[in-house]
Amino acid sequence: MPWTYDPQNIFARILRGEIPNKTVVDTAHTLVFHDIRPHAPVHVLAIPKGPYVNLDHFAAEASAEEIVDFHRTVASVIADLGLREAGYRAITNAGLHGMQEVPHYHLHILGGRTLGRLVDPA
Ligand code: AMP
Repeated sequence: MPWTYDPQNIFARILRGEIPNKTVVDTAHTLVFHDIRPHAPVHVLAIPKGPYVNLDHFAAEASAEEIVDFHRTVASVIADLGLREAGYRAITNAGLHGMQEVPHYHLHILGGRTLGRLVDPA
């Protein structure tokens, strides 16, 4: 089944400059900005600029250049935000079971305190 991208999603609107954001880094293929409802002292979102719904869409269809730019940018943000030594968590949600709210691929990067267990018990 092909992926279907909704160009009206809120992160697409951020990328078009229709909604403001608190930018951390802006590269050729990647934007990193602060989450509007942070769950930790550091909570930023890394998104590719291309129209990808989720991780598997991005991994399957993005160009090598986009994939490298995204991950190198994530690495530099982790270093710049001081997360390398104490650690951090990187999470991505997808679809119904992942309880994804915004249908544009994004990696949550959280840190600044000890984070809880990976998932709540069912
Ligand atoms: P997810 O449930 O993985 O799709 O997470 C979506 C995230 O986007 C949530 O953590 C929201 O707080 C965040 N979010 C939604 N709208 C905005 C916005 N305008 N600016 C920054 N973060 C946002």
